[in-house]
Amino acid sequence: MNKELRSAVIAGNWKMNCGPAAAKALIEDLKPLCVNAECDVIVCVPFVDLHVALEATKGSNIKVGAQNCHWAESGAFTAEISAGMLKELGVEYVILGHSERRQYFGETDVTVNQRLRAALNAGLKPILCVGEVLEQREQGVTEEIVRMQTKIALQGVSEEEMKNIIIAYEPVWAIGTGKTATAEQADEVCGQIRKVLAELYSEAVAQATTIQYGGSMKPSNAKELLGKEHVDGGLIGGAALKAADFFGIIDAAK
Ligand code: PEP
Repeated sequence: MNKELRSAVIAGNWKMNCGPAAAKALIEDLKPLCVNAECDVIVCVPFVDLHVALEATKGSNIKVGAQNCHWAESGAFTAEISAGMLKELGVEYVILGHSERRQYFGETDVTVNQRLRAALNAGLKPILCVGEVLEQREQGVTEEIVRMQTKIALQGVSEEEMKNIIIAYEPVWAIGTGKTATAEQADEVCGQIRKVLAELYSEAVAQATTIQYGGSMKPSNAKELLGKEHVDGGLIGGAALKAADFFGIIDAAK
């Protein structure tokens, strides 16, 4: 329908990989490859790499994101990082609600919403992750789960603020497992998310919002996934750690 209205965005989620030296080297490898990229390219790096990544990407078309932020502006939250701190550093994007945060660190839809609102208030652009676990897919409740996660995460978010949000549909059973959702499954759920946005906001917001797929995307399956009507980009884990593989996906977004 309106795929051309939306920016294609390929974002790498480096997770807990690469210290500052490896981060610099990976970005230096990526820079020449990405010069003619026909999509937005983001690298979401560990907190300790942000400074190096911001320096290394200066003057290039690669943007930098973090992988989480806290909901409070400051205070007694040992080891946490606020959205304002990221903004002050020059960070543009932040991944929120990643399934690993939900699974291992007790994050809930409510805390994801709090973090998302804090990120927007600080001027960051959130990449909001939603997705079902295998049991939920097998129980036939994928749509309900993804609808609920999306609706709670977006509570209190205005239509204007939606311009700064990317949503990533990441079926948890496909993350880091080598199992990819079929292009049809990815398209179906991304379409369901778009329908929720139309209900919550308007058809215009639904058509303008970038919705990525994430879950074992690699150069060999990227073209088919990215060719689907509702799949506007990818959130990439493992394949973002090798410049050639990440570029293979960026190239498939043409
Ligand atoms: C992710 O961590 O968001 C992800 C999609 O990982 P992978 O590509 O390794 O499945």
